[in-house]
Amino acid sequence: INILAIESSCDETSAAVVHNGREILSNIISSQIELHKLYGGVVPEIASRKHIEKINQVIEEALKEAKMTLDDINAVGVTYGPGLVGALLVGVAEAKAIAYAKKIPLVGVHHIEGHISANYIEHPDLEPPFLCLVVSGGHTHLVCVKDYGDYEILGRTRDDAAGEAYDKVARAVGLGYPGGPKIDRLAKEGDPDAILFPKANIEGAPYDFSFSGVKSSVLNYINGCRMKKKSYNPADIAAAFQKAVVDVLVEKSMNAAEEYAMNKFAIAGGVASNSALRSEMEMACGEKKIKFYCPSPIYCTDNAAMIGTAAYYEYLAGTRHGWDLNAVPNLKLGER
Ligand code: ATP
Ligand code: MG
Ligand code: FE
Repeated sequence: INILAIESSCDETSAAVVHNGREILSNIISSQIELHKLYGGVVPEIASRKHIEKINQVIEEALKEAKMTLDDINAVGVTYGPGLVGALLVGVAEAKAIAYAKKIPLVGVHHIEGHISANYIEHPDLEPPFLCLVVSGGHTHLVCVKDYGDYEILGRTRDDAAGEAYDKVARAVGLGYPGGPKIDRLAKEGDPDAILFPKANIEGAPYDFSFSGVKSSVLNYINGCRMKKKSYNPADIAAAFQKAVVDVLVEKSMNAAEEYAMNKFAIAGGVASNSALRSEMEMACGEKKIKFYCPSPIYCTDNAAMIGTAAYYEYLAGTRHGWDLNAVPNLKLGER
């Protein structure tokens, strides 16, 4: 089965050809980061327009690199939510047009199911059940992957997503957008114990997260220094903030792995590229004899390959969408 996959939920226009779910024949990503940088974040209207400009070219390249034409494609997979409605619609309309013209099945995919499925690409041995921590620009979910397409959300953020907190703190420290990778780099030069930022625990919800508190503490710390005309060290702030975030993520993840007696743990989403999260999680899993999985950075960021992998398992499970498939900006994981 060859699946042509399309992703356009945020600021990456991407197309991929995926063979039998786990073999990536091509994965073309056109990022709009340079464009949105000027505004300090993603501007939805600009994102939609750019997707329209790029999508045909990106699909052509994906087919070319896979040495295929549309005649070799057996199904089209596409992200239909969650995300920016105008951005999603570009991919959904394109996928519908191709599937209709070629008379092949259309499979809508949940973006976060895609992020989780990125773990299958480079780990042929990975199969459900396992636990997965999804940390991205818009989500922080601790998920039990019971089977392909069968998810139970054990915990989620009550306010900011992990990536969102990284981006906001980066802006406060003057690093610009997107801040995650920049904080990651700067933190290596700082002392994580120089400042103590709070770690949030939510009573009665052991697997829920909250990152707005630590974000506010960073902002208050910076404002305090400015007010007192005291200098501060951005590298120490980055390191201490990162420690507060990563410690909480690792701690709750390991508690869940213990409670659910899971010996496989995966991470996914843009923040899964974070070097501290990767190494701390690997170490914690090692201590508990849990097998740790994480995708290469190129499969952590938004990409169509992961959507193709997710679409393959949805396809096998019989998921088919009609020509009335619409973008669903707030689609819930597990909904069809
Ligand atoms: P969602 O997947 O929730 O819809 P999204 O698609 O916008 O949101 P992703 O592309 O998965 O999010 O991830 C982007 C986020 O990852 C940004 O917030 C970015 O700052 C963060 N990020 C990327 N690399 C790193 C890193 N090395 N360390 C920390 N954060 C990072
Ligand atoms: Mg993005
Ligand atoms: Fe994403």
